[in-house]
Amino acid sequence: MSKPSILYFDQVNDQMRALLKRLKPEGFELWFWHDLDEDERNARLPQADYLMAATYPLDQHILAKATQAKLVQKTGVGVDNIDLPKATELALPIANTPGANAPAVAELTILLILALYRKLPVLHQSMKEGKWLMWEFRSSSYEMQGKTHGLIGFGQIGQETAKRSRAFGTQIIYYDKFRAPAEVEEQLDARFVSLEELLQTADIVSLHIPLLPETRGLINAKTLQLMKKSAVLINVSRGGVVHEQALYHALKDGVIAGAGIDVWESEPVHADHPLLQLENVIASPHIGAGTIDTLKRVLATAFNNIQAAENEHHFQYSVNGITQLRTPISQ
Ligand code: NAD
Repeated sequence: MSKPSILYFDQVNDQMRALLKRLKPEGFELWFWHDLDEDERNARLPQADYLMAATYPLDQHILAKATQAKLVQKTGVGVDNIDLPKATELALPIANTPGANAPAVAELTILLILALYRKLPVLHQSMKEGKWLMWEFRSSSYEMQGKTHGLIGFGQIGQETAKRSRAFGTQIIYYDKFRAPAEVEEQLDARFVSLEELLQTADIVSLHIPLLPETRGLINAKTLQLMKKSAVLINVSRGGVVHEQALYHALKDGVIAGAGIDVWESEPVHADHPLLQLENVIASPHIGAGTIDTLKRVLATAFNNIQAAENEHHFQYSVNGITQLRTPISQ
């Protein structure tokens, strides 16, 4: 009997390939999409039992051709790279790895806030250029202590971020589609507010919501206008949640003070991107979940889920409401 197979879609470097091979469950074959030429892709796609992807777009064409697939396993949380309606139409379950990357994204959020508040990139660069800017930025540098931190999205990453931010002495307010349980609010000393109140009162606004039709462009010229002139915006959710052109103008015209941006409307981003020309922007290339600690947790969760699916016909973390493995479509 042939071994069950996992088709891994994202590009890998040597370390990532070795990690995937080491963590993969015993008795499974692991195929790398980027190792295959077009003919091999056409042959393997209908044979794969499990599809696994981080950010690679699993569009309707790929999903339709994956006739043997029982489950699509996302390594991460946001499933905006997968055509959910198509998968649902095909009765194909999609699972993710909730919470596994929350500590890393929460830490990056704090890092971006502090780096903006203390002008770390500019100071680091200035020292390399032989400058000693000991006093230049004191009147425009800030502490987190005493500031109001508004979190938009209060799920796993939002709450992990709030926990860390609290330790720096901030007041936590949050907006979410669903109010958190009272014990969570109490534990994090977090106050549930409207989106409008959050934008108007927060010194720090950080984004932790998924990219959905209703969240696309949530931060736009109108909502940016509601924010304090001294406020900073941190986007570690998805680029599409922010209207980048509106953000550019808001930063350039002093509508808000600064932005820390990890995720972009279109990735990868090139050096001539307008937001990268601004001094009050700190940028990173979608590395919110980018730690080895997270990778190990995410891959362990994903592989365990696939193993349970294969051996026990049971899996967790469905994000499209389908909780049964799909029976392969006969060709
Ligand atoms: P989660 O599902 O635990 O939390 C998401 C929260 O957003 C939930 O509380 C949900 O109720 C809320 N929400 C959904 N739709 C909303 C709406 N329309 N208005 C207000 N709130 C809404 O997910 P999470 O683990 O906290 O991750 C959040 C997002 O962070 C992911 O969807 C992903 O896009 C992004 N993310 C980014 C990185 C990165 O590398 N920068 C890594 C992981 C996740």
